[in-house]
Amino acid sequence: MGPLTFARALPLLCLASAATLPSEHTALHKARAAANETNVYDAIIVGGGPSGLSALSGLARVRRNVLLLDSGEYRNNPTRHMHDVLGYDGVTPAYYRWAAREQLSHYDTVSATNGTVTKIDISDASSDPHSDTLFTVSTGPTADGTGQVATYSARKIVLATGLRDILPPTPGISENWGKGIFWCPWCDGHEHADQPLGLLSDLTDAPGLVREISTLNSDIIAFVNGTDTPENRAATEESFPQWEAFLKLHNVTVENRTLASITRLRDGGADNTDPSLPSVPEHDLFRVDFVEGSDSVERAAFFSSFPDEQKSTVGQELGVRLDGGRLAADSTKGLVTNIPGVYAIGDANADNVTNVPHALFSGKRTAVYLHVQLAREEAAKELASAGNSTAAAAKKRAAAELDIRAVWETMNGEPRDILYAGDFE
Ligand SMILES: Cc1cc2nc3c(=O)[nH]c(=O)nc-3n(C[C@H](O)[C@H](O)[C@H](O)COP(=O)(O)OP(=O)(O)OC[C@H]3O[C@@H](n4cnc5c(N)ncnc54)[C@H](O)[C@@H]3O)c2cc1C
Repeated sequence: MGPLTFARALPLLCLASAATLPSEHTALHKARAAANETNVYDAIIVGGGPSGLSALSGLARVRRNVLLLDSGEYRNNPTRHMHDVLGYDGVTPAYYRWAAREQLSHYDTVSATNGTVTKIDISDASSDPHSDTLFTVSTGPTADGTGQVATYSARKIVLATGLRDILPPTPGISENWGKGIFWCPWCDGHEHADQPLGLLSDLTDAPGLVREISTLNSDIIAFVNGTDTPENRAATEESFPQWEAFLKLHNVTVENRTLASITRLRDGGADNTDPSLPSVPEHDLFRVDFVEGSDSVERAAFFSSFPDEQKSTVGQELGVRLDGGRLAADSTKGLVTNIPGVYAIGDANADNVTNVPHALFSGKRTAVYLHVQLAREEAAKELASAGNSTAAAAKKRAAAELDIRAVWETMNGEPRDILYAGDFE
């Protein structure tokens, strides 16, 4: 597809829902099976969100044999459009992944398949970063009734397994997550700028949220759901001195009643008249009901602060250390974890940055480091085996010389003998 056709096709694809786009894996399935002759992949990437795809791209460019295994539960799947990813601002997350996979399908040494990694074993562990480590990766059993389990081998592992948001059970929150109820101003704030906004968080997080959205919204109610207590007020003062004065300056009301439900009154997704634009205002409307009192409040959108957790435990089970709930990764060494040969990228790692540009950057960073690390190991082996063959030849020559010396010494006789030809040199 040429660039012109691509540009014209883009708005149509933006309109398409994930279901009408080509399958996540179609394009890459067509790629040649990539294991080398020993059936050992250079690397296996666990997770096919933006970070895993970015690592796959970096490794495809240097013709590494790489397999990507993906269970297909992407963190930003619920959202309408992906924002602040330059060049792709405003496309659906599914379209973005499809475009990435389509491009990757042109590289012969990488492939991707569906599957949930259930276990990663180290076959030959060593703390020496220059030595080869072999990993066995197991997927399945599949849910298709056959219960199939598959195993793959690789020299390196990239964990791109992402995070899971832990949403409160209040009716209406998970139903509208990513579609009027958001967590990140950079991702969705511009579409709801200057609209009546609600914050969903504990009191302690509310002033920080207001600071983040202060350039976008000025009519704000913080729904702190019973967390406005003397203890939390003291903790908030500790983390955000003069928080009350700050909220007053920004006209923020603190609503402490217990949330009963959030009900959608209007769908802002229907406003998307020109989806080729990177940012289009979305006019959602919600009603907030409380356990105490029958008066409800209407808000156009919400920003929240909810906890999250690792999407997968395979990293931890392999022995990867967690820092603050995230996979510890050394940013000075290509995001390698405490387990040599295992890297952690994207939302899951302890960089503590959770957005698509970071996912792309961290994937690329690991791809470069991992490739060079493999090349170092290969060079060390090549040189060692070249050194070995020189030594073996010298040994063989020395053995032959010894034989000749033995023959010489037997045949040569003693200095006074007639055939004596002197010492062996
Ligand atoms: C509602 C919402 C909206 C957002 N909007 C934006 C936005 O507009 N712009 C932006 O920059 N960021 C946005 N983000 C953040 C963005 O989603 C993440 O930063 C990004 O998805 C991180 O990419 P990732 O590859 O690390 O993880 P993910 O995209 O979550 O991908 C992880 C993948 O790993 C797979 N996986 C996990 N465990 C296993 C396993 N054991 N075996 C195989 N596969 C596995 C998962 O199924 C998933 O496919 C948003 C987040 C949310 C929640």
